[in-house]
Amino acid sequence: MKRDGVLYIISAPSGAGKTTLCRELIDIFPYLRHSVSYTTRHPRPGEVHGKDYFFISKDEFNRMVEAGEFAEWAEVHGNCYGTSITTLEECRTAGVDLILDIDIQGARQLKLRYQGGVFIFILPPSFEELHRRLNGRSSDSDEVISRRIDAAAGEIRESRWYDYIIVNDQFPRAVEELKSIVIAEQCRTTRVLEAVAELFELE
Ligand code: ADP
Ligand code: 5GP
Repeated sequence: MKRDGVLYIISAPSGAGKTTLCRELIDIFPYLRHSVSYTTRHPRPGEVHGKDYFFISKDEFNRMVEAGEFAEWAEVHGNCYGTSITTLEECRTAGVDLILDIDIQGARQLKLRYQGGVFIFILPPSFEELHRRLNGRSSDSDEVISRRIDAAAGEIRESRWYDYIIVNDQFPRAVEELKSIVIAEQCRTTRVLEAVAELFELE
């Protein structure tokens, strides 16, 4: 059935498992697309321009902000990140479902802008486990890890205004929960009503 694309906005404290879960979700539902953000951060080894992010200069980022090209943007851990309005609009009208892996500040901006967005918050099972996962990932220094743990408490408080909360304790269970949300959202009346009316020639 033809319908507008759905925006799945997913936030989490760093280390909760958001990236791993989003990858798994796209493996399960290959028609889901990862929204490619713009960032002033330098690429990490292996990251590809246009696939992981559009890596742009601070000047170019500021120009896009001034021109009103972002649906949301925020400074996260010292770098700027933003989602372009064009990306969202093109996918919405083409019926493409998008996963937006963005921080809480950005999610808040989209909550005001996109009523039909699905806001999902991923929680770690505990602070201790969050610490273990950040250490285990071994991509950050001790200082960065402790800054991320400090930020986590404030971020977790924000989970209250999201539509769904998933505790990523047992990975397969968290995947099942995420999967269920996607399936349920596709059946939401407001998303399919127009197509149903067309199909059954309803007035
Ligand atoms: P985020 O994107 O939220 O910062 P990642 O997806 O990079 O987090 O996950 C952080 C670390 O935790 C990774 O090493 C990942 O393999 C691991 N991880 C993710 N989910 C689980 C889980 N349910 N149980 C144990 N480890 C996990
Ligand atoms: P990283 O640099 O590790 O890829 O991402 C750091 C943080 O920036 C993550 O919390 C990620 O969700 C967030 N982020 C990535 N893209 C965007 C975006 O377009 N907008 C906002 N607000 N945050 C983003």
